[in-house]
Amino acid sequence: MTETFLFANELAAPVAAAAVPERRWPLLIVDDDPEVHSVTRLALSKMRYKGRSIEFLSAFSAAEAEEVLRTRHDVAVVLLDVVMESEDAGLRLVRRIRDALENRAVRIILRTGQPGQAPEERVIVDYDINDYKAKTELTATKLFTTVIASLRAFEDITALETNRRGLQQIIETSDSLFRLQSMAHFAAGVLTQIATFIGVEPSGILCAQRGDLGGGDTERLYVLAAAGAFEGVINHPLVEAVHDARLYDLVARSHAERSSLHEPHLSALFIPAVSDMSRDVVACVETEHPLDDMNRALLEVFASKLSVGFANVDLVERLRDANASLEARVAERTHELAEANDQLERLAAQDPLTGAYNRRHFRDLASRAVSIAKRQQRPLSVLMIDLDHFKAVNDTYGHAAGDDALRALVAACGHTLRQGDILARYGGEEFCVLLPETATATAVQVAERLRHAVQALRVEGPEGPFTVTASIGVATWADEENNIEPALSRADHALYEAKRQGRNRVMVDSALVTDGV
Ligand code: GH3
Ligand code: MG
Ligand code: MG
Repeated sequence: MTETFLFANELAAPVAAAAVPERRWPLLIVDDDPEVHSVTRLALSKMRYKGRSIEFLSAFSAAEAEEVLRTRHDVAVVLLDVVMESEDAGLRLVRRIRDALENRAVRIILRTGQPGQAPEERVIVDYDINDYKAKTELTATKLFTTVIASLRAFEDITALETNRRGLQQIIETSDSLFRLQSMAHFAAGVLTQIATFIGVEPSGILCAQRGDLGGGDTERLYVLAAAGAFEGVINHPLVEAVHDARLYDLVARSHAERSSLHEPHLSALFIPAVSDMSRDVVACVETEHPLDDMNRALLEVFASKLSVGFANVDLVERLRDANASLEARVAERTHELAEANDQLERLAAQDPLTGAYNRRHFRDLASRAVSIAKRQQRPLSVLMIDLDHFKAVNDTYGHAAGDDALRALVAACGHTLRQGDILARYGGEEFCVLLPETATATAVQVAERLRHAVQALRVEGPEGPFTVTASIGVATWADEENNIEPALSRADHALYEAKRQGRNRVMVDSALVTDGV
């Protein structure tokens, strides 16, 4: 029967069923006379202050009272007799409460049957008590008035204390939060701290606009942190992330109205941007009870500190991004510079018209080749190539066609020579070739192949293709020579001889190798 009744009750009023037990004002009666206890309970049994009734606690000696107060820190008022186990047991208890138990909040009303025993003026001055009454003057009405006044004082004191603790918590929290430098960590920390502050398990989201700062469409709100029921929606737009219309509306309204908003089980804390360098943030958490005015006010204080925190983290993140992009740009520029340097080096070594090495670079390569040949006792030969009657070629077909002929010669050499051979433009229409690992006989063969290749070229002239020929002098480096110059000069001599003997031929150290064909 009873069970059915309970069940029916729960169905009818689920809110009442889930409600916490009624909060009452704990009041401790301390007196060695049991009669005083029952009279007091009777006098105050109907009393209510701020909707709460009295919870009566009884102690029959100072020692017993101390024990009660040691375990119950929420006692609001003590109605205290003076003479109990000793003449001044009550007065001593006051000292114990204030000093040993360090309870400064509880209100103490001294009730004495023998006023002479503890003179009012001295006691009020010497002891931290709220009121001093002779039992005879304490009528039911007087008792009522003095208890109400004490409850009011107790409430003020505890409010101040709660406030003080809240502010201290804000300061301590801010200190540890402000060490977090990434937005993701900071945002998550803020959400957790707000929940801790309210005294609930974190469940909610924290949003801000992404991208350009300032201005404010709700569509551009993103979730920076999420906890509890909302976990897993971080970095999503609010519109997509939150399907709870209640929460969405509250966040959107708070952001649009730029103020904190509270509903019975949901609170949105608005954290304003400190400057146009930062952005407005809204943190929304589920609450078990509606937040009272004090908690709301404290949260606003917290919000103002958090504004600075968000601005800091935004700045740090932007500095970090700027730094990263700067580093990327430096790396890119360094790469470009290295490429430009490579190209410059190539250009410095190259003849611009034909792409063959220039004379300066040829000398560098030749001196290296001589060192190697010397060290490894390997042969090394050079060819000196000069186009025949090139002045006449220019005169007949034009300078541009002459340039084409020079380029065609270089291309032909490229096809004919080996990988390690080195071709350079030595002067106007004069080229030389370094042939490592090559003795005279082979060098002569190479020269012949080149001569034929040149002869086979068809260069495009203004009135159709024309041909060119070249004379080639061959010389071989002698192992007592420290550089390539003597060999070059011998090759030049041979070339001169080839010209003299009629051109389009290969000569080696003054001896004719082939007749032109
Ligand atoms: P030889 O058979 O005796 O070598 O006669 P040659 O006309 O070739 O010799 P000479 O030294 O008299 O003339 C060389 C010519 O090469 C003169 C010059 O106009 C031409 N020449 C030199 N450099 C270039 C060039 O870069 N482009 C063109 N088109 N002609 C050039
Ligand atoms: Mg010439
Ligand atoms: Mg010449």
